[in-house]
Amino acid sequence: MRRQSARESAARTYARALPIVPVRARGLTIEGADGRRYLDCLSGAGTLALGHNHPVVLEAIRKVLDSGAPLHVLDLATPVKDAFITELFRTLPPGLADHARVQFCGPAGTDAVEAALKLVRAATGRTGVLAFTGAYHGMTAGSLEASGGAFDVRVARLPYPQDYRCPFGVGGERGAELAARWTESVLDDPKSGVRHPAGMILEPVQGEGGVIPAPDGWMRRMRQITAERSIPLIADEVQTGVGRTGAFWAVEHSGVVPDVMVLSKAIGGSLPLAVVVYRDALDVWQPGAHAGTFRGNQLAMAAGTATLAYVRENRLAERAATLGGRMLGQLRRLAQDFPCMGDVRGRGLMIGVEMVDPEGESGSGAIGAPQVVAQAGGEPGPSAYGVHARDSTPRPTTPSAPRHTPYPAAPALAAAVRRECLRRGLIVELGGRHASVVRLLPPLTITDEQVAAVLDRLADAMAAVSS
Ligand code: PMP
Repeated sequence: MRRQSARESAARTYARALPIVPVRARGLTIEGADGRRYLDCLSGAGTLALGHNHPVVLEAIRKVLDSGAPLHVLDLATPVKDAFITELFRTLPPGLADHARVQFCGPAGTDAVEAALKLVRAATGRTGVLAFTGAYHGMTAGSLEASGGAFDVRVARLPYPQDYRCPFGVGGERGAELAARWTESVLDDPKSGVRHPAGMILEPVQGEGGVIPAPDGWMRRMRQITAERSIPLIADEVQTGVGRTGAFWAVEHSGVVPDVMVLSKAIGGSLPLAVVVYRDALDVWQPGAHAGTFRGNQLAMAAGTATLAYVRENRLAERAATLGGRMLGQLRRLAQDFPCMGDVRGRGLMIGVEMVDPEGESGSGAIGAPQVVAQAGGEPGPSAYGVHARDSTPRPTTPSAPRHTPYPAAPALAAAVRRECLRRGLIVELGGRHASVVRLLPPLTITDEQVAAVLDRLADAMAAVSS
């Protein structure tokens, strides 16, 4: 029988890399039409905080279906929506929850990013946005602008701190401080064109960019820099939220209270739901200013309420921190045997293994940071970020001896690891600036035995690609 999905656009991505036809799923496990079972560490790109078809989620959905409640009522107030807002506000960082509003957006994360960008532009009367290299915020025009691959004059792209491929070649706290100073220098430069931006948008852990956790100190510096200049700070927690990183919201690690939070994925308990939460002082929108037919789907809100409550009541964020720490430790030990595992990093159950070519020539700037254009003296040039700094602008200084000399990224090897994992019944995600990062996003409900099984299969896959 010719599968009708063959008629789908070639733009499909997951379907190409994962040639399976899922027909049943529960928890961490997906079953294909051929009867094969897989451990799913992709989890709907980090959506399934409780795994597939968790009983509390199914029960919440059934309850709405059986109650005769309307399934679609635009954005009318309903008891289901009330329950969702109550539970959401219970989880929010106190500094924000105390005086925040929530806006329901179109169903996807990218819709909420659009809404956030639009909101800060409306609230400040300004247009420019500060975003970071390697960011991913979505696929619609505004969110793409703020993401790593695209470029638009209204967006200034600033260096995101990272240890392994630090754009300044030093990593650690010093690299993060240089990145922060870079941001300051752009904001202080009259010629940068973004001295008075409408907002700054950042991911507390870059997900699609290759699982790069921002250091807490850098997060606090971003909060300080934006607060001093009255720039609204937008935290994109679409992927990091709902316990994934070991705190309910990833901003809690640093104690940073953003002005705006963009939430989607797990908040809908596996159904599409997206919201923006923001300080009520920013609520300049009049009725109709941000509309959309599919805001706040009843089933998604019910599934989301059940998920948020379950994660909170069962302290699954703490569990994610513990299990994630253990997985990182074991993967780092594994990396000692496999030099192609260039870097193992993550936070909570958001884990990445950067695959490298250990035979290749090492060097911090060689292939590792292509979006950073080196100037004379080895400094990344501001033009690389779409802004132009004066010569007299205080610049981060480049240390004489780079500490980090990572090997070239190995995307083909990462793809091979994904294939080998699949052969062994393990589904992993790829990501990163060079598609060289093997990513694990298991549900927060993963059991100890399942963690062991995932690591075993991954170790076998690493052995297979290394032989
Ligand atoms: N922001 C972040 C941080 C994301 O990871 C994603 C999706 N991976 C998005 C926004 C976009 O969400 P969606 O795919 O639901 O539009």
